[in-house]
Amino acid sequence: MSEDDYDYLFKIVIIGDSSVGKSNLLSRFTNDEFNLESKKRIGVEFATKNIKIGDHVIKAQIWDTSGQERYRAITGAYYRGAFDITRPSSFQNIEHWLKELRDHSDEKISLMLVGNKVDLAESRAVSTEEAKEYATDSEMLFFETSALDATNVDAAFKTVFERIYEKIPKSVT
Ligand code: GDP
Ligand code: MG
Repeated sequence: MSEDDYDYLFKIVIIGDSSVGKSNLLSRFTNDEFNLESKKRIGVEFATKNIKIGDHVIKAQIWDTSGQERYRAITGAYYRGAFDITRPSSFQNIEHWLKELRDHSDEKISLMLVGNKVDLAESRAVSTEEAKEYATDSEMLFFETSALDATNVDAAFKTVFERIYEKIPKSVT
């Protein structure tokens, strides 16, 4: 299957505080790669991966914001907000990221809240219950992930893309 053989192109953007693991979630999903170094990767703006949903091939395009709020330039996209379960401030700041989104996007967007670094269970400072409740109240899907050991990374991305797929108008045959 050629990389350019797809039925739909779906775009998502990962936003959230610096160092929560946005770039590593992206590289784990698209390339099965993880980096211990936190690189200010100006180069990588997005990565793509073809996935299957039902009978369709979806070209999943995921944008990395690198803290530069580049996502503002992208319209009609869908968003995931990530935080670090060991850093409460990164969870509290989700409120700020949500406000940014609501000020700069239309209403069609699908949202997912992602609590990353669950491998660091001993340093956890944001409970699953608290994050889940917040996600439910703000109408966001919710996943806890680890980019390091790959826990739930595929499942989280796949779920976002399935949600987008559910929302698009289908032709009746
Ligand atoms: P970004 O600034 O949100 O893009 O964060 P990065 O992807 O650059 O990650 C920041 C730091 O957290 C790096 O040192 C990563 O190795 C580390 N990191 C990212 N994801 C995880 C994870 O799931 N578990 C652990 N233990 N460290 C992570
Ligand atoms: Mg980054």
